[in-house]
Amino acid sequence: MADFKLEAIKCRSCGSGLVVELNDFITYCTSCGNGFEITESGLQPIEINFATAAIRGEGELVYKPFWFLKSRIEILERESSGGFFKNLFGGGNSSSGEIKFYIPAFYCHIDSLKSLATQFTLKNPVASPQKFNTKITGFSYGREDAMKLAEFLLISFEAEKSDTMKTFRYEINFDSYEILGIPFYKSADGRLTDAILEITV
Ligand SMILES: [Zn+2]
Repeated sequence: MADFKLEAIKCRSCGSGLVVELNDFITYCTSCGNGFEITESGLQPIEINFATAAIRGEGELVYKPFWFLKSRIEILERESSGGFFKNLFGGGNSSSGEIKFYIPAFYCHIDSLKSLATQFTLKNPVASPQKFNTKITGFSYGREDAMKLAEFLLISFEAEKSDTMKTFRYEINFDSYEILGIPFYKSADGRLTDAILEITV
């Protein structure tokens, strides 16, 4: 992998040089707005869009990458009923539905990661992401990590709704994998506060 990182990488769409930080899983071309997953078989296209800042804050505005996973979930069996699926899947006894997971793709403490992922996923606050001509780097978690974290979240959502959950069997299918750039304000001491839900990490 180290050798690969030393190569000059060019955008597959427009030929511009791409910025790749050590260990990045994804690269974004600021010239043409196309994103690529860096895989063993080369650059694979991936959709990258950005959220607009909704809150004015202090400090430098930076964009941090999140995995945006659209999933279909079917609950096969559970022994206690939590509120999450009822709310999310439109009430009644519906046992299947869709969840859009927002999973941080940048490195942060596990508690921060869980807090961001939980609140963004429950609130689904980025209805219409768009193309921005801005820099985005620091992709520390790849697609496989994101899928595992999404499943972890799903289970924790359900477990937290009930202290009597005994059985929980589900099937999760991911329909699409995209990247969302979420705006954060970076304070002088290095803390990050997102410009949408105002969570400080
Ligand atoms: Zn390009």
